[in-house]
Amino acid sequence: MTAVADDFTRLYGRAPDGVWAAPGRVNLIGEYTDFNDGFVLPLALPHTAVAAFARRDDGVLRLHSADVPGPLVELRADDLTPLSPYGHGGWAAYVAGVFWALRGAGHPVAGADVHLASTVPTGAGLSSSAALEVVTALALDELYGLGLAREELARTAQRAENAFVGVPCGVMDQTASACCTEGHALFLDTRDLGLRQVPLDLAAHGLRLLVVDTRVKHALGDGAYARRRAGCEEGARALGVRALRDIDHAQLPGALAELPDATVRAYVRHVVSDNHRVRRVVDLLDAGNVRAVGPVLTEGHASLRDDLEVSCAELDLVVRAACGAGALGARMTGGGFGGSAVVLVEEAGADAVSLAVEEAFAKAGHTAPRIFPAVASAGARRLS
Ligand code: ADP
Ligand code: MG
Repeated sequence: MTAVADDFTRLYGRAPDGVWAAPGRVNLIGEYTDFNDGFVLPLALPHTAVAAFARRDDGVLRLHSADVPGPLVELRADDLTPLSPYGHGGWAAYVAGVFWALRGAGHPVAGADVHLASTVPTGAGLSSSAALEVVTALALDELYGLGLAREELARTAQRAENAFVGVPCGVMDQTASACCTEGHALFLDTRDLGLRQVPLDLAAHGLRLLVVDTRVKHALGDGAYARRRAGCEEGARALGVRALRDIDHAQLPGALAELPDATVRAYVRHVVSDNHRVRRVVDLLDAGNVRAVGPVLTEGHASLRDDLEVSCAELDLVVRAACGAGALGARMTGGGFGGSAVVLVEEAGADAVSLAVEEAFAKAGHTAPRIFPAVASAGARRLS
């Protein structure tokens, strides 16, 4: 935190007005449900994007990241254009996009000097991009006294990513980063952003949630995400509902029988069953029956692998090796095609499970995975 403030001061020749942090997230269950108005259950990671900001009222925006070599990126707030290339500073779009989205909503954010550094692994499905957007939204909200609610900050950040950066993500990542609280998973209804903090104290149950970053960079830009999104919309249209969220799990067999296209049928089966799995996991957590969450995660993985077809060899191997070594359950998390998996383990067996996954990766000739425990951490906040 102080390092970011010190670097800011060295870079800009004055102290920042404040320093803010926003976390990455990992999703426990509910994948590809958020663009179907469905349910998700993410938790914030201890890893954060930390940003020092100083307000400027001259319409100039200067951005610098400690994690990207190169000079600072200087932009004019009036000239911000969606989908514009920023040369070496392609990353700057995530920050500039939030300025653009706030200005588009009529908020008088004139400019700022920004320096940031992040401990959220990038491209690992842990939402380093949302962390960047949300830390920017919160800092500007406070610097300019906008008084926006957390949910509005999340919506603004999502708008930046969708319309300015050009990534058609749902609202989960930004809402998790903005609204999560320590010791809880966030049960989020992505239709109306209704949310509930669900206690998740795994250590009290002798359990641990491991994140396994496969180091396979997920790349959703090749249209795979868009195709699934379109398939889900087609399914909702064919079934005469606004979104797949409106198909109850009990109606699933009847709904599937109405769908002639096998691919659409498989997408619908995944989304409806994963929405149901989110509710089952929330019920189990509420009842203190935490071990029983494991098999629901593994079921969710099979659905993502077989019905949605968004897994990959490395993610499947994590699940197989972890469960084979005694994990209670495991699944890929995030968009898939690489990125990370979550594994629920007994604390006493966590090392053995990690070792089994590492050995399986070595044997298969994959790059060594990065494994760390996910402790439900705080959402975006001011540090100083
Ligand atoms: P994810 O959100 O899963 O990590 P994305 O592809 O959505 O993956 O976002 C990753 C991008 O976010 C990076 O390529 C970079 O442009 C930007 N980014 C993330 N963290 C930083 C950082 N510390 N500094 C600069 N850019 C960052
Ligand atoms: Mg992202």
